[in-house]
Amino acid sequence: MPKDNQNLNNSHAHSPHYLMWFRRDLRIHDNTALAAICEQANAQGAQVSAVFFLTPEQWQAHDTSLVQVDHIARTLPLLAKALQNQLNITLNVHLCPSFTDCVSTLSTLCKDNDISCIMANHEYEGNEIERDEQLTKQLAQTDIDFIRWHDQCILPPQTITTNDDSMYKVFTPFYKKWRHTLEVSNMQMHEAAAVNNKAKLKTSKSSASTIKGIEKLSKETISNYQKTLQDTGLLAHIDMDAQLEHARTAYPAGEDAARQRLSTFIADDIDNYDVSRDVPSLHATSQISAYLTIGAISPRLCYLQASKAQEKLHGNDGDNDDINRWISELAWRDFYRHVLVDRPDLIRHKAYKEETDTKINWSYNQDDFETWCSGRTGVPLIDAAMRCLNATGFMHNRLRMVTAMFLTKDLLIDWRLGERYFMQQLIDGDFASNNGGWQWSASTGTDSAPYFRIMNPFSQGKTHDPEAIFIKTWLPELKGVPANLLHSEDKIRQALAKGGKFADVDYPLPMVEHKAARQLAITEFKKG
Ligand code: FAD
Repeated sequence: MPKDNQNLNNSHAHSPHYLMWFRRDLRIHDNTALAAICEQANAQGAQVSAVFFLTPEQWQAHDTSLVQVDHIARTLPLLAKALQNQLNITLNVHLCPSFTDCVSTLSTLCKDNDISCIMANHEYEGNEIERDEQLTKQLAQTDIDFIRWHDQCILPPQTITTNDDSMYKVFTPFYKKWRHTLEVSNMQMHEAAAVNNKAKLKTSKSSASTIKGIEKLSKETISNYQKTLQDTGLLAHIDMDAQLEHARTAYPAGEDAARQRLSTFIADDIDNYDVSRDVPSLHATSQISAYLTIGAISPRLCYLQASKAQEKLHGNDGDNDDINRWISELAWRDFYRHVLVDRPDLIRHKAYKEETDTKINWSYNQDDFETWCSGRTGVPLIDAAMRCLNATGFMHNRLRMVTAMFLTKDLLIDWRLGERYFMQQLIDGDFASNNGGWQWSASTGTDSAPYFRIMNPFSQGKTHDPEAIFIKTWLPELKGVPANLLHSEDKIRQALAKGGKFADVDYPLPMVEHKAARQLAITEFKKG
């Protein structure tokens, strides 16, 4: 438990009232702010209430996908139940159509309920930081404390730095220091203790403090959000109802489901991770990202469970490539968050390597972009991956790299378009990781792929989907076509009948010739 921030302002009432503000931390286990507020409340004899804001305007600003918003909405009633049953705290959910409403609603809540302290976990994106600064300013004229904790990373931003105290530009030395720091530290989970609560928040009409009320408000908000997205016309090729249905089955809500998923992965798959993680048809990765993104599970728990497995399976001094590899993926997640804190301008979609913004003549060809989005490029691995994303809201990591490179190198389309599209679809859409992944693929980011190392989507298929199992799952029209043909651009072109049809199959010609496109991209990056 963090030891600072002990002296809260308790001048308000005989029995002080504190407010826990949930954001992207929808869990009660190892939630740093929640544990801190419960500890303080128990020490001071204070009451605790909790609040969450549904913020459609901000979701749109971040291009948050419908499946992710739905995941949040499904999680809220479960969080409310757990808070009530395990910690004796009531969660109030408010709809804030405009993002800045959060600040005024919080101020009103504090005034009406004589709240003397708000606690929350840090968020690192631009609008969120501005919102918090606005609240801090507003509360400065009062005697209400607003205290935030670092919770989203395993090790907080700005704690893993070079000898001259700056952020690492390259992952490997960052990872070495990150790993060493963890090995020598005794990382503790922050578990919240139940509070002896009497708090009932006086709220406006839009709030819904009963579980049923939360369910109703969340459902209405989802339905309105879906309508808003449909009205933009941008996602006409997506069957949103089918995508939602898939995500609801594939990602049961709540922290219990998240912890179960982690345990199953560690019991069944982590020991083969290094080899299997690159084979999309095996589903051998943890698929925990959707839960990490909304904070239904703590990244520290993921790290600790993996470390325990390391000890159990391989002894105290045990070292294991599979488990190390998985832990290093968790470190990538930390890395990109630390990078965002170091370079807050990234939130405005600036290239990390700024010169690429002026040097590269990116394409904005809408037809090419839509062909990529809808999975009609004529490159089987790319199309299967995009159709999988559109149908499920998830894409395997290897395929994220291959599709992103295809868009930014073979089509030379601005990475920001793809970045945005991924956010609109992914259930695990997360600004820092998504921006990091896109800038890696586009060779515009920190420690990104060298511009001349361009993945060939056909040989990627041959290596990572040799039998074309994944391809044929998402492109059933290609079921009868031999795998070796699908992994060769030359063979595909030879086999194509006139009119862009694959013999009697309705499948298009590859939209670009990879070798030529690769050369063009290299020339573009070399110039200037
Ligand atoms: P596992 O392989 O089981 O890894 C465990 C966890 O480590 C993941 O859940 C994730 O939190 C973290 N992780 C793994 N790989 C990475 C990585 N390369 N960068 C950062 N964290 C990583 N991840 C997101 O969570 N949200 C995104 O919006 C996102 N967009 C991406 C876009 C592109 C273009 C690329 C190349 C990668 C992106 N990633 C993103 C990273 C990665 O693809 C996903 O985290 C991973 O596929 C999630 O599946 P998993 O939970 O089974 O991962």
